[in-house]
Amino acid sequence: MKINSERLINSFIKLVQIDSESGGEKEIIEYLKGELNNLNFSCTIDQTGNLIASNGNKPVLALSAHVDTVKPGKNIKPIITDDGLIKTDGSTILGADDKTGVASILEILRTLKENDQPIQLEAIFTVQEETGLIGSKGLDFKEIKSKQALNLDAEPGDIIIGEPANMQLDVEIFGKTAHAMHPEKGVNAIEIAASAIQKIKWGMIDEETTLNVGVINGGLARNIVPEKVTIEAEVRSRSHEKFDLNYQKVIKAFEETAKDMGGKVKIKSHQEAWPFVLKTDVQLVQTLENACKRNGVKPDVKLIGGNTDANVLNAKGIKTITTGSCGIDYHTTRESVTKKALAEGTQIVLDAILSLSK
Ligand SMILES: [Zn+2]
Repeated sequence: MKINSERLINSFIKLVQIDSESGGEKEIIEYLKGELNNLNFSCTIDQTGNLIASNGNKPVLALSAHVDTVKPGKNIKPIITDDGLIKTDGSTILGADDKTGVASILEILRTLKENDQPIQLEAIFTVQEETGLIGSKGLDFKEIKSKQALNLDAEPGDIIIGEPANMQLDVEIFGKTAHAMHPEKGVNAIEIAASAIQKIKWGMIDEETTLNVGVINGGLARNIVPEKVTIEAEVRSRSHEKFDLNYQKVIKAFEETAKDMGGKVKIKSHQEAWPFVLKTDVQLVQTLENACKRNGVKPDVKLIGGNTDANVLNAKGIKTITTGSCGIDYHTTRESVTKKALAEGTQIVLDAILSLSK
């Protein structure tokens, strides 16, 4: 069974022209609801604004994609070059992340319908993925019946089976202000921050763990002993154990240093994502690998250091792999996708669904 590449490209071009920067997804969700109703799917829009659709009570799997884009994502004017590259005029992103995933799902459902293949499926379209997986975290999981899912938010051939936990830390360090001529009356918050940061090994800790200190602010003037410093840092790991260990290490370094140097520290932590690593012998992984090979695409089974909706779906017990039909240079105004990649990624997912439903 073959997808209709021309219809797929046209649908993608239409989708990128519906503005949907994170937080402004109403129009595209309404559009998708209309399209899904035409495909005999019943639709629910949950209280977060996500669209959940199904054509039966026993879905083989769910297909998911996020409908929001990063900025600048308004008034996108897609251009198709003679050699089959889809890009923009350079004033906006393209939105291939993740409208390719959305277009792939629509094309798969259209192809199945016109071939009279009554495969039961679920489609999950999430909002606000780019701003911290807000949509998927707010999904109405009572509405979702699938035990497994393919999250279409990567490149053709990608089979992402592991993503890290992510802890975001907001650190406030308090010293005591004084005139620079009387440093003995003050406690320098910048010195405390520098000393604490020095005690921690940042960067790649091991193959599944990274630590980063990304933002630092503090001080008022050259001739004032600074009273306060704020720091934004994060801890990521695909291992529960290493995640906890490194998180505790960061907290301890700040707390002990502040205490030793006569200051105070306040740390706010927010867990952004929960880790998962699927085994490579899971049926879904192997089916997808085979579908890649049948389409002449080298499967790339991998673990990544970033977060997607698959983090949330896996945390909720839905075995989810991230794959897709995305392009390159996403989150920039150079973003592009080839017609070939879009069609290939879509065909691979359709083939995997056909294998799974046998
Ligand atoms: Zn994405």
